[in-house]
Amino acid sequence: MPMNRRELIAASAAVGVAAAVPARARQSAPKSKLLLSSQEGIIPARDLPERLAKMEKWGFDGIEVGGGGFPGRVEELTKALANSKLKISAICAGTPGGPLVNENPDTRKKAVEAIKELLTCAGELKATGVIIVPAFNGQTTLNHVEARKVLMDLLPEIGEHGAKVGGRILLEPLNRGEAWFLRLLADAAAMCREVNSPGVAMMGDFYHMNIEEPSDMGAFISGGKWLHHVHLASRKRVLPGQDERDFTNGFKGLKLIGYQDYCSLECGCDGDREVEIPKAVKFLRDQWAKA
Ligand code: MG
Repeated sequence: MPMNRRELIAASAAVGVAAAVPARARQSAPKSKLLLSSQEGIIPARDLPERLAKMEKWGFDGIEVGGGGFPGRVEELTKALANSKLKISAICAGTPGGPLVNENPDTRKKAVEAIKELLTCAGELKATGVIIVPAFNGQTTLNHVEARKVLMDLLPEIGEHGAKVGGRILLEPLNRGEAWFLRLLADAAAMCREVNSPGVAMMGDFYHMNIEEPSDMGAFISGGKWLHHVHLASRKRVLPGQDERDFTNGFKGLKLIGYQDYCSLECGCDGDREVEIPKAVKFLRDQWAKA
């Protein structure tokens, strides 16, 4: 089928990026596969066992849980997962115990302790990590330079604890409407590189990336070895496939870096979830195959 001009440009750009990645790096990157996950609240069900059974039937590989109720939930989740093929992808915590980046040392200390406790739970559950937003807009009076220094001073201790218990903090860049402090995957990866700890990693969210990133593929390539989780949502933050948002460019980036972790739904839904979620799963698997 002949390509239109837009497709031709997109295809040439993809070849260009692939060529720019050193051949040795491409050969050594392990083969990726699409491990699909969803935040638990998106899947309609009476309880956790019913939710897991439905997700398994719909073709999911993992479930992402909220950060509330821990450490108590470890037992409930371990029991339920024993009867399921699904694994815990990540714990989505946001700002447990308050913002990590803040002018008040007591606020910072409380956040560090809450994050450490969740990292221990993530290690027990063999989750990819704990999703953290350093500070939402309005949660600190620190300017950007001060805020970055505060975060860089706190991350080594968090990373050390994470490495000990088998858990990782996953820094999540958001769009400027929610968090000016951290918007770009490359910036999050640069922070991880600076800390250089197996307990400190980052993630990307297709919804925020659509607002902030000049290129999905470029953003994931910048994330590189520090990228350990991905959130999926359309442009309008509903299910992938429910609007024009394309995922193939980002998925190409994930394949290029040999991504081994989960891509997890974090979105609303237009219409009946029982019908629309299986459609989104099929759409995403098709986008992955095309990428
Ligand atoms: Mg997100």
